[in-house]
Amino acid sequence: MRKLVSIVIPAYNESDNIRNIFDKIAVVFNTLPYEWEVIFVDDGSKDETLSTVKALSKEYNNAFFLEFSKNFGHQLAVKAGLDNAYGDCVISLDCDAQHPPEIIPDMLVKWEEGFDIVYTIREEDKRLSKAKRSSSNLFYKLVNSLSDIELEAGTADFRLMDRTVVNVFRNFHETEPFLRGLTKWLGFKQYGIRYEPAERFAGNSKYSLKKMVRLALHGVTSFSIKPLYTAVYVGLIMSLLSLLYIPYVVYAFYNHIEVSGWASIIITIVFFGGLQLIMLGIIGIYVGKMFMQTKNRPNYIIRSTNLKDQS
Ligand code: UDP
Ligand code: MG
Repeated sequence: MRKLVSIVIPAYNESDNIRNIFDKIAVVFNTLPYEWEVIFVDDGSKDETLSTVKALSKEYNNAFFLEFSKNFGHQLAVKAGLDNAYGDCVISLDCDAQHPPEIIPDMLVKWEEGFDIVYTIREEDKRLSKAKRSSSNLFYKLVNSLSDIELEAGTADFRLMDRTVVNVFRNFHETEPFLRGLTKWLGFKQYGIRYEPAERFAGNSKYSLKKMVRLALHGVTSFSIKPLYTAVYVGLIMSLLSLLYIPYVVYAFYNHIEVSGWASIIITIVFFGGLQLIMLGIIGIYVGKMFMQTKNRPNYIIRSTNLKDQS
């Protein structure tokens, strides 16, 4: 019996990309000795994505869809696909063909060699704007330095996972999973493949700056409590510095050394005000995460699907 490879594709307003990516994958699998299926996860799209995917699933018996009841975000869309895929291995990739299906054969070779997770590393894309490139680099630097996991720059959600890993993943019920960090954290035998990113096929990036910042904060706060320690250290250093400064202020007071105070006081107030708000915010993020998690709501809701079993 041939092994089954499931491909999970999150799609948010990607109607013009669906057929393109499906055709590309079909071409790749034409020459491979595997059964394959594609599961599109419609993440509450507002365009024709769902109808396109439904039409596709009528034409091909290996095209499936999961319809979310609303937009739950990229990470949860991938997670839902993983939870519902039945393949011997599952590959997740983006809808816009930026993750080239052409390297799937290489991933499968590594899988057959015995690796449980084959992740991919994007070579730096010279075509992207400086701003997008440096914000992406900053993202990985920030996540790495402030958390306990080590992510290589350019590891996106384009990866292959063995059935055993996918089964482990099913037991994860984090409200906002950070998949690329979680897979790193899982361990297992991992292998990284480098690839040149392709240009987005149609439409625009669905990741706004706001979503990127959110993802970065999540990346950091879902993996460690290091930021809380930073707060303690910054506080300690500030207290020490002020201890050194206080004797001078007292000395100046008794010796009637006049210092004009307005500028320094305003600067201090503004600076420490900002610092305290940041620290409070960090604590707030952790408390918020606890709150979300304790409610124990389902992470995503499926409105409809043509997948048979959904346990
Ligand atoms: N996506 C999603 N839900 C969202 C945002 C994005 O399912 O809320 C999907 C999107 O359709 C695409 C993938 O996630 O398949 C990556 O998004 P995008 O290509 O916009 O990100 P970028 O490549 O710019 O980082
Ligand atoms: Mg993209």
